[in-house]
Amino acid sequence: MARHSHQRHQLYLEGQDERHLRQLTLIRDLHDAVSQQQLTVVYQPKVRTDSGEVVQFEALMRWQHPTLGFIPPDEFITLAERSGNIHLLSQWMIDAVGKQLQSWGRQGHTLRVAVNLSAADVMDESLPDRLLQMQAEYRLTPDQLGLEVTESAIMKDPALATRVLGELRHAGMTVAVDDFGAGYSSLAQLKRLPVQELKIDKSFILRLEDHSDDEVIVRSTIELGHNLGLKVVAEGVDTPQGRELLQRLGCDYLQGYLISRPLPADQVLDWLDDYRR
Ligand code: C2E
Ligand code: CA
Ligand code: CA
Ligand code: CA
Repeated sequence: MARHSHQRHQLYLEGQDERHLRQLTLIRDLHDAVSQQQLTVVYQPKVRTDSGEVVQFEALMRWQHPTLGFIPPDEFITLAERSGNIHLLSQWMIDAVGKQLQSWGRQGHTLRVAVNLSAADVMDESLPDRLLQMQAEYRLTPDQLGLEVTESAIMKDPALATRVLGELRHAGMTVAVDDFGAGYSSLAQLKRLPVQELKIDKSFILRLEDHSDDEVIVRSTIELGHNLGLKVVAEGVDTPQGRELLQRLGCDYLQGYLISRPLPADQVLDWLDDYRR
């Protein structure tokens, strides 16, 4: 009996150790990921609910590790944040997106892309200047660049985030509150945020058809956003029924597998071409 529980304890520890080792390896290899071209960007379109017009693409990071294979972004972004390395990835992302927008521009397509920012990015007062520099370098207009910041990242230091986001918006970039509804910002705080969009967290959208509680939340979030003069986006739209319901509820923009999965950069123009036909 005692022996048995000892074994179980041992197994538990081994599982822990393995996870810990993986985390240490990934943190150690983050620098290589950037310097050895292991990172790529995929682009997922966001469309108007009424006309279907493509308004923007969201840039999402991918990491193919040389020995561990594909690493989910939720995993390595969290590790980069906790180990103080997220700036490295954000700066890489900003540069990669700038280059890509310039390249599409040279092919005659002026596209818009939104980049996800972490809490550390919105609390970094050098961010607005870095973004403006990037736009100048790649000859982009400010409205080509959008930013998504989670509600929880903003709420870590609402005053500072408001100042940084205010500068970005003042410079002409669009700012969206990501994963909205998962956090707990007060109405008063929300009203003061210099943002144009609320993006409803996909956990409320994914099972919208068969969960009436989710429908209530989504309906009231859309109303709240509109009352504050914001556009409302639903992410994670993966069924026609979901799209119809969101259209009836007056949601402005849609994003999800129903419209498209995130696409490698070299498939974006072809996808647009097919989509517009
Ligand atoms: P997010 O910003 O909420 O991104 C949306 C996630 O939902 C993406 O997962 C996307 O692929 C997925 N998705 C889109 N449509 C659907 C759908 O219809 N159904 C389902 N089930 N999922 C859908 P992904 O790419 O795995 O990214 C996960 C998270 O990693 C992102 O969540 C974001 O928080 C973070 N992330 C990704 N790239 C970056 C980055 O460059 N910087 C930062 N700070 N975070 C990033
Ligand atoms: Ca996002
Ligand atoms: Ca989101
Ligand atoms: Ca998320």
